Amino acid sequence: METIERYNHLNTYYKNKFGERTLKICIDAGFTCPNRDGTLSNSGCIFCSEKGSGELIKYSSQHIENQVKNFLNSYRGMRANKFIVYFQNFTNTYDTIENLKKKYDSALIDNRIVGISVATRPDCISEDIAKLLSSYLDKYNVSVELGLQTSNDNIGKIINRCYLSSQFTKAVEILRKYNIEVIAHMMIGLPTETSDDIKNTVTFINKHNIQGLKIHSTYVVKNTVLADMYLNKKYEPITLEYYLDSLAYVITHIRKDLIIHRISGDAPKDLLVAPEWNLHKKWILNGFEKLLKEKDLWQGKYYFKY
Ligand code: SF4
Repeated sequence: METIERYNHLNTYYKNKFGERTLKICIDAGFTCPNRDGTLSNSGCIFCSEKGSGELIKYSSQHIENQVKNFLNSYRGMRANKFIVYFQNFTNTYDTIENLKKKYDSALIDNRIVGISVATRPDCISEDIAKLLSSYLDKYNVSVELGLQTSNDNIGKIINRCYLSSQFTKAVEILRKYNIEVIAHMMIGLPTETSDDIKNTVTFINKHNIQGLKIHSTYVVKNTVLADMYLNKKYEPITLEYYLDSLAYVITHIRKDLIIHRISGDAPKDLLVAPEWNLHKKWILNGFEKLLKEKDLWQGKYYFKY
């Protein structure tokens, strides 16, 4: 029996779009970030790990082409026929146009690759970068994962993201002008965040011409400013219950057309400081399904009510 999806799952979207199961190949292309290299700050966003996310990438020290080849030849890679190359670590549009093109091209080495996805920050999007990305549209699905985390600039300051929400708006406008899909990143449980802050972020996201949303809870990893805050009792992580309730708010108030790319983050076990529940992806996924079912909730159920 087919189960009803209460929100737009990414796998289903891929299946409908590409006709079959499609996997992401996560790539560490050796970029840095203006918030880490001293241009804006040296310390980065307070939660940002030493690798700028993507700790689970297996072949990250290798050349991009080898990272792709190794994944395609791996046990997982052999179990699918279509792939999206995903430039994950740090800011994947933070380089010259020439270097960006070289790096993107070096991942597109197999005709089973159907898409390219690039994670970046809003202040690292320009017309030239959007033009470059759009040049791949004739052969590939092209998307940009854009950091936002919160629309509340006061929290943006606390987390030291070093861009304003208005810069997110500008970046979305540029990317959409070139028909590039945009996926926003949102975090729940940031320091000082209240339920009103979460509502503001949802309202803000709904007003933007974006196509997807990635949500995860704030978790503390070693060697970050957030870890210091946690150890000095200046930050208290949220509970699983609070996360699931907040997630239910987001999903029920978000637009129905958005594809939900994920509802949990991949906290690396050896780096995670807190909260411990973040290691149990199934608790999050199954707990959320249960909550939606019990309360009869679905994506966009209350979208028109505010
Ligand atoms: S923008 Fe991304 S890569 Fe840069 S410091 Fe923040 S989280 Fe890390």
